Amino acid sequence: MSDLKTAFAAIVGESNVITGDFAAYANDWRKKYFGKPLLVVKPGTVEEVAALVKLCAETKTPIVPQAGNTGLVGGGVPDESGTEVIISVARMTKVLEVDTINNTMTVEAGCILQTLQETAAEHDRLFPLSLAAEGSCRIGGNISTNAGGVQVLRYGNTRELVMGLEVVLPSGEIWNGLRGLRKDNTGYDLKHLFIGAEGTLGIITKAVLKLFPAPRSTQTVFIGLESPQKAMDLLGFMKGALGDRITAFELISDFGLSLVTKYFPQLKAPLPPAFPWFVLSDIADSRDAAALTADVEAALGEAIEQGIILDCAIAKNETEGNRMWELRENMTESQVHEGRSIKHDVSIPISKIADFIKAADAALEKAYPGVRPITFGHVGDGNLHYNVAHPLASFTEPNWTKELDRVNLIVHDATAQFNGSISAEHGIGQLKREEIKRYKSALELQVMKNIKAAIDPQNIMNPGKVI
Ligand SMILES: Cc1cc2nc3c(=O)[nH]c(=O)nc-3n(C[C@H](O)[C@H](O)[C@H](O)COP(=O)(O)OP(=O)(O)OC[C@H]3O[C@@H](n4cnc5c(N)ncnc54)[C@H](O)[C@@H]3O)c2cc1C
Repeated sequence: MSDLKTAFAAIVGESNVITGDFAAYANDWRKKYFGKPLLVVKPGTVEEVAALVKLCAETKTPIVPQAGNTGLVGGGVPDESGTEVIISVARMTKVLEVDTINNTMTVEAGCILQTLQETAAEHDRLFPLSLAAEGSCRIGGNISTNAGGVQVLRYGNTRELVMGLEVVLPSGEIWNGLRGLRKDNTGYDLKHLFIGAEGTLGIITKAVLKLFPAPRSTQTVFIGLESPQKAMDLLGFMKGALGDRITAFELISDFGLSLVTKYFPQLKAPLPPAFPWFVLSDIADSRDAAALTADVEAALGEAIEQGIILDCAIAKNETEGNRMWELRENMTESQVHEGRSIKHDVSIPISKIADFIKAADAALEKAYPGVRPITFGHVGDGNLHYNVAHPLASFTEPNWTKELDRVNLIVHDATAQFNGSISAEHGIGQLKREEIKRYKSALELQVMKNIKAAIDPQNIMNPGKVI
């Protein structure tokens, strides 16, 4: 270890090699995984990353790439062997270029997501990736998890927002694919291998990101409805009435909302808690706010008349809209206060979401009478965070966590029944590595293993994650 430490220090400087107090790097955000790294190294340039990886390849030292460490599946956390080195890109935070004609931004992998949104805004552009962890997650991690978030409906996942990448391969070689091209049919599109690979194929060091015209106005609305099916009807109705101006469409159950207002009493629900389901939606436009609001009011008025929705609150200004979003952003944290729920991040074809919720709720209730599903998520793109809190009468929090495998099986089998995915956003990491074997075909898994072996024959890049 001291040889390796000295060699790493010669590359990045002694102050950028951390040998003790690993807590910020070795444990995950949910405090579910507690790893034990050999060292944490923080390179400042791609050349330093390449030199570190070359050294690891020579010494067969396993590497765990890390960015903001907000991942929810243990992908950026080392195992407990004390042999793995965390390479953190947190010092690589330069925005190298903003090209407002090509509508691209070239950035280093350690840039905080929120900083990139702000940089785009300074140039009158939009970088649309947006998620609750945006103040601390970093773009290298976003790309490696193909992060989704609340604007996928209109702008797509991270995969759709990445035009080029620079990656340090497990050999220590640097692949420069920093192209800002919208059209490039010159064989295999390698960048897609690294997007969503959760650090198992290489370390992303830079990216060319897609920018969009900044919307002139955004209208936020909070809607009360009868059922998830009505929410799906509303989505279809709003798409017809407002077109692709809908940027976010989030479903929230009354129980989910009640937890937020219970643990964050300063946050007030914009509608009375009398409705069983809610939708939080953003509609953005290049026209002025008054014209947009008039369109939204007309559409939602019509939705009430048609019996699709029960009531709605239309934010009067940005501050009111932000307050509505604070409810959604604190949903995950409110569940931490209520006691660990068993979490799922599934996607279902949009037209089948209501059927899935019914089937999963029924199967769980049969197995665990009184169980409390906390259902919310980005249903505009078919993504549900279907979390399950313990039945109060028969379980306590510690007992409930012992039911994890059985609850997962019930929820994920229901997901498979509707041809869905057991990981819509957060990835596989350590959390779902065994489970994907049940839901992916042997052929698909074998092709994934073949790709891994071709790029990382020594299996040093984030071993034990994904496959
Ligand atoms: C409150 C909260 C809300 C969230 N909401 C969402 C959401 O709406 N949508 C969503 O998709 N996710 C969400 N997440 C999950 C998480 O924020 C995302 O997965 C995020 O993209 C991870 O970024 P990070 O910088 O924290 O990555 P990390 O946690 O550091 O790493 C994530 C994975 O990427 C790998 N990795 C990191 N950097 C690199 C690199 N430079 N090169 C190669 N591999 C690398 C790691 O090894 C790990 O496997 C949420 C998390 C929290 C805590």
